[in-house]
Amino acid sequence: MKNRVFLRPHHLVCLMSFQGEGYDEVFVSKIKKIIESLESALDEKLIYVVNGCDDVCRYCPNRNGDSCKDEAQISNLDSSFSKILDVQQGDMYCHSEIRQMIRNKLSVGEFEEICRKCQWLQICRIALWN
Ligand code: SF4
Ligand code: SF4
Repeated sequence: MKNRVFLRPHHLVCLMSFQGEGYDEVFVSKIKKIIESLESALDEKLIYVVNGCDDVCRYCPNRNGDSCKDEAQISNLDSSFSKILDVQQGDMYCHSEIRQMIRNKLSVGEFEEICRKCQWLQICRIALWN
């Protein structure tokens, strides 16, 4: 069995819409590795939902110890996506379940409202609803 991937709620959506954008090369390359690992085992429950910093934050230049430099805004993202997708800390999912949850539970309007402050909004919107 492959290693678990620890993800905070909003990163469930970020990873499913990832198109190669990121804060720096190391960050992007680590995200690609995480995605490759999940895509190579689509139906294995490798995704473990956590609160706070996760496996994506670990390589981010905006991480500040166990927190994000912009934790207030990021916590809002987590909380909004948690409610809509109905996920909470400790839940485990496989890649295909997350894809389906996003398709079934998240509307374009909700997504645009929640992610309105993110620089990658348009890229992610096209990736999720193309
Ligand atoms: S540290 Fe902050 S900006 Fe970086 S990936 Fe985590 S939540 Fe996003
Ligand atoms: S728009 Fe930003 S916060 Fe929203 S899913 Fe994309 S990268 Fe994540």
